[in-house]
Amino acid sequence: MLRSIQVRTVLAVPETPLHHLHWRGKLALSLDCFICERTGRTTSFELGAERAICSGTRETGEHYTAARIAAFDQTQEHDRTALQAIVDYWWAPFHDAIRDQPAHGLSHTPWVRHHLGYYCPEQEQVGEFSIQTNVLRPQSTACQHCSTPIAQSHDVPELRLLT
Ligand SMILES: [Zn+2]
Ligand SMILES: [Zn+2]
Repeated sequence: MLRSIQVRTVLAVPETPLHHLHWRGKLALSLDCFICERTGRTTSFELGAERAICSGTRETGEHYTAARIAAFDQTQEHDRTALQAIVDYWWAPFHDAIRDQPAHGLSHTPWVRHHLGYYCPEQEQVGEFSIQTNVLRPQSTACQHCSTPIAQSHDVPELRLLT
């Protein structure tokens, strides 16, 4: 059945942003995959692609799966930037024989990784970084070229099963 997961992630940014911070159309999510019948598989998405890639198992290796980014909205305010994305994917019930647990529409251990890009006006170079669910917070990120603080993550990304 078709399932939708909403991801909402907020980052604090300096009040005078100079680094043109933006969310890249790329994310990874843990999903319970009915194709390789394993729970909590890292599934990689690219905005605009009609399929995603499941990390699979040692036996299967990675494989394509029926999943895509259905909505991708970034909003900027003076002191924060937020991304709200909706991921649609095909889910069917199964039992993970190795972990001995049933599959769920939203994985037992919901996890997401985002990628962000920026442009350093000092050094006139681009940079990028990622943020994910499992890190010690607050997590601060500075420009890799001029060391100016560019973002801080205070809250764990929210993942919610919509349907
Ligand atoms: Zn899989
Ligand atoms: Zn910089």
